[in-house]
Amino acid sequence: MKTPNSVCVYCGSSSRVADVHKAAAHALGAGLAERGIQLVYGGGRVGLMGILADAAIAAHGEVVGIIPEHIKVLEVEHTGLAELHVVDSMHTRKRMMVERSDAFVVLPGGMGTLDEAFEVLTWKQLRLHDKPVVIVDVEGYWAPLLTLIDTMVDEGFCRPEHRRLFTVVNRVEDVFAALDRAPEPTTPPETKWL
Ligand code: AMP
Repeated sequence: MKTPNSVCVYCGSSSRVADVHKAAAHALGAGLAERGIQLVYGGGRVGLMGILADAAIAAHGEVVGIIPEHIKVLEVEHTGLAELHVVDSMHTRKRMMVERSDAFVVLPGGMGTLDEAFEVLTWKQLRLHDKPVVIVDVEGYWAPLLTLIDTMVDEGFCRPEHRRLFTVVNRVEDVFAALDRAPEPTTPPETKWL
C-alpha cells in the first residue's frame, strides 16, 4: 500500500516488562514520526504505550490518543499529544481507533492488546474493513498465539485464508516494508469471506 497517513498501534500498558519490549515501542514511535505517519493509540502515558507516544513526540511526530473517561484516571492520560479524545466507553475508543487509522501494528501486550488486536482481525475477517494488520513478534513473544492460530486452522475452526488477515514480522524495522507490501485496501470491502 502507499505510505499510510496514520497507523494505530496496540501495545501493553505495563512497565514491568523486558527492556527489549520497551525498545521496540520506542523504535516504532520514532519510526512512525520519522516517516511523517500519524500515530493513533490508546492515549495513556504508562507502559509501552507511554514509551511509544513519547518517542513519536520526541521525533516531532503527530500523536492522537483516544481514551475512555473511566480509565483516564487509571491509565493517566498523556498530556503532550496533538489530539487527546476522551470518549464515553471502551467500545467508542476501539471504533474510533479503527476509523482514524489506515493500518494497525500490534506490539507485545497483555489482555487489552489481545482484545484490540482480535477485534481488528475479526472485523477484517467479516470484511468490515480491509486495512493491513502487522504483528511484531518481538523475541518470539507472540509465538504461542501464532501456534494457536495454526491449530485453529488445522482443527477447522479458522479458514486457512484467514491466516493471511495479518502479517508477522520479528523486528520493528520490518514493519514499514510489511506495510509497503500490503495490498491497497479495497473500498468498499468485498464480502467474499462470508
Ligand atoms: P494491556 O495489553 O492489557 O496492557 O492493555 C493495553 C490497552 O488495552 C490499554 O489501553 C487498555 O486500556 C486496553 N484494555 C485493557 N483491557 C481492555 C479490554 N477488556 N478491552 C479493551 N481494551 C482493553
